[in-house]
Amino acid sequence: MAVNRSAGGGATWPSLPALPDPATETVLASGLLEELSYALGGPFHFLLPDAFDANLRSMQATLEDAGVDGFVYFAKKSNKAAVWVERCAAHGAGVDVASLGELREALGHGVRGEDVVVTGPAKGPDLLELAVRQGALIAVDALDELDALLATATAPAGAHPRRPARLLLRCLPPTQPHSRFGMTDAELTAALDRCVGAGDAVRMEGFSFHLSGYEVGPRADLAARLVERCLKARALGLEASRISVGGGLPVSYTDAERWRAFLAEQHGGHYHAGKSFGSADFYPYHSPVAGAGALAALLSSRPQGAGQPLAGLLKECGVALLVEPGRALLDRAGGSVFRVQGVKERDGYRILTVDGSSLSLSEQWFNSEYLPEPCLLPRSSEESDDSAEPGDSPGVFPASVGAATCLESDLLTWRKVPFRQRPRVGDLLVYPNTAGYQMDSNESPFHELPLPPKVVIDRVDRPAEGQGGRPRWRFDRHFLRA
Ligand SMILES: *Cc1c(COP(=O)(O)O)cnc(C)c1O
Repeated sequence: MAVNRSAGGGATWPSLPALPDPATETVLASGLLEELSYALGGPFHFLLPDAFDANLRSMQATLEDAGVDGFVYFAKKSNKAAVWVERCAAHGAGVDVASLGELREALGHGVRGEDVVVTGPAKGPDLLELAVRQGALIAVDALDELDALLATATAPAGAHPRRPARLLLRCLPPTQPHSRFGMTDAELTAALDRCVGAGDAVRMEGFSFHLSGYEVGPRADLAARLVERCLKARALGLEASRISVGGGLPVSYTDAERWRAFLAEQHGGHYHAGKSFGSADFYPYHSPVAGAGALAALLSSRPQGAGQPLAGLLKECGVALLVEPGRALLDRAGGSVFRVQGVKERDGYRILTVDGSSLSLSEQWFNSEYLPEPCLLPRSSEESDDSAEPGDSPGVFPASVGAATCLESDLLTWRKVPFRQRPRVGDLLVYPNTAGYQMDSNESPFHELPLPPKVVIDRVDRPAEGQGGRPRWRFDRHFLRA
């Protein structure tokens, strides 16, 4: 089912469409993207904050339904837009930051200091100072960082009395011993000693980890060990009332059958220049449990050696669960739009050149490929000046997507995507579901190309009066300021 057969030749082209999303489809059908592309004169991203709100609500509801005291922090590094922070401030969520700039953005767009968690390694003195002053929770990654934090927390404070430094101790995961993050058992023991010694200058609130990968099992196991660590830390007189399990809630971009078939079919012949990828090079674009469902699975799974599910353990021990999802909060919360600037014929496929670059599709920078298929929005018929060519219909038109730059390897899509219509100059290519990590992690004004603006579509389902049924849009406040 996921394999298209071309009109001639018998070649097959694996296809991987994104799961249907009504809000994105409404935007695609509204004509708004064509108008924005014309107005902005280049590539842009659109953001759908209603999807963010819905993802956040279901995670908060999952914690409530399990009777677990918990808190959701949005991992800010996954997308720079201000609108997510504004939504966190409005809907009782916090923000996970890892730099002074991110902390300023979080505070500046309305999140209270006490609702911020500061992660990331070796935090500088300015970041520590502002975090302590704002009452943010600081995930301490190393002993020297703890010393720097204690020095900050006990330094003379001027007119105002110091607030205690709120901290978590980040653990090196036993299942990922080569991680450069977190502290070993011996370091944690030393850290606890120093916290006890610091007295009222610190509030040691618990422990944290962040695991690579997306499996539930290892997270449940490590969470249970952190609950035990809390009980031991309490015996030393420390607060130890919460654990953070980091991010890594998976997103399911496509359905199980298409994903299975895609992995089984794809090979070097399906990519420009014979480039090839193994299954392990790709993000797992299908997940049987994802987002809030994965959080529910975590809460209901029984950690190794525990007599009850994680939720029960947390409740029994009075430990709150903190989560720091990035990608999962942004599921379906936006897309990226490019215009086709050139179409080049190659042997059996086409190379489309679009008006942006792979810097706006970050997966391409990790020796991988963003696989959910771009959708082709043909330019409006009144602008068409060429007539249909033979073979235009019905058919399959495999095409790779290159950038408007001078780098040989700058492709947004190496794969020859089997488009159902012949791509033409002036058409729009819309990459779906790109808000999580794809849009802006790597963007730079390379070639003096401007950074693609971000357009917020606040209410997709409720067009404003007199808008002809078209959703309303505005610029994201981060973009306006930049
Ligand atoms: C990156 C990161 C996250 C977010 O991870 P996602 O996979 O986007 O959920 C959360 N916590 C920490 C410490 C991180 O480094």
